[in-house]
Amino acid sequence: MKFKPADNIQDLQYFGEFGGVNPSISDSSTYTFLSAKTMFDTFEGNAEGCYLYSRHTTPSNLYLGEALAAMEGTETANVTASGMGAITPAILQFCEAGDHIISSRTIYGGTYAFLKNFAPRMALATSFVDITKLEAVEAAITETTKIIFCECVSNPLLEIADIEGLAKIAKKHGLQLLVDNTFSPLTISPAKLGADVVLHSLTKFINGSSDTMGGVVCGSQELIDSLRNVNDGACMLLGASMDSLRAASILKNMRTLHIRMKQHSYNALYLAEKFEAAGLKTVYPGLKSHPGHELYKRMMNEEYGFGGMLTLDVGSLDKANELMELMQKQNLGYLAVSLGFYKTLFSAPGTSTSSEIPEEEQAEMGLTDGLIRFSIGLDNDIERTYEMMHDCMIQLGILEAVKN
Ligand code: PLP
Repeated sequence: MKFKPADNIQDLQYFGEFGGVNPSISDSSTYTFLSAKTMFDTFEGNAEGCYLYSRHTTPSNLYLGEALAAMEGTETANVTASGMGAITPAILQFCEAGDHIISSRTIYGGTYAFLKNFAPRMALATSFVDITKLEAVEAAITETTKIIFCECVSNPLLEIADIEGLAKIAKKHGLQLLVDNTFSPLTISPAKLGADVVLHSLTKFINGSSDTMGGVVCGSQELIDSLRNVNDGACMLLGASMDSLRAASILKNMRTLHIRMKQHSYNALYLAEKFEAAGLKTVYPGLKSHPGHELYKRMMNEEYGFGGMLTLDVGSLDKANELMELMQKQNLGYLAVSLGFYKTLFSAPGTSTSSEIPEEEQAEMGLTDGLIRFSIGLDNDIERTYEMMHDCMIQLGILEAVKN
């Protein structure tokens, strides 16, 4: 049977304390007990339905976690204060000093910086590989490897990871496959394809209104219990817990995620096809020219399309900056990092979200100076948007340069 992530979210029914259509928000950082024994049991993680302290978890956080676990098809989930607040403890929970991690070389700059610069302080080494080459991934495995880490659709190059292929390798060698699904919520369901852990920055599409940070680790009950363990749980002890007020607001926004993803995908495909036809170097997984197009089609939950992210290479950083400034002036979007907003957001990753990656490594992975990353918005009339973007490009001689 087909996996239906949005239906799974909708099937959850919660009421507020007084019959409200939204669950009540638990506006408390600590919880009382009628008996000292129950408090002790809760501390030890043995008192079902009792709450102790908000860094551990809260009713509001559990509601949101349940919805996200339903979306990803995992046993459960733990929400965190940011995407990095989910990624770093999830990685650390599986590793000890001396262990080795294999990571895609094209990942969000913050995750890259953590693995490259911070994790070595804890004696964790990472090999960065071309994730589209399964043989390169397998060849990088050593005796101390614990984790394979990747993004389904990579930031910013939009490379597509073969989750089933990677899961087979992980199983064969007893490794954990951790997948960041921030760019492709609903569209790809990594756990259904064999991933052990699915991570998200909720800051992006899932919340969708660019007003809060958030993250989630989706996985087995055993993993989530271990992350929350008061003695050695990385979520519990590193402390990037989500606030209940935010959990409640993100849950409300999640109600429209399926509608938003369809519109992001529709608009992005429309623009990608037009830009490509105009001769611009366009990368979008929905284009036949994308090397991962067929793989994406095999993995995707079709009704949500190929997502809202695309890149254009306009030749140089100066041109990219000129174009982004002009598009912002014309109110076609904002020159801003992040993604998943109702408005189109654009930035040049080489000098922003991927600037943690040294220039020579950027060049090696094909991250060029003139690359603009677009998170396409929910524009009602995308044809009009295209016409206006096209005019900006004509004005700056970008399309002329492509033709010559
Ligand atoms: N993963 C991806 C793919 C991202 O793009 C980002 C942020 O840009 C993150 C993780 C980190 O998320 P957050 O900024 O919520 O910590």
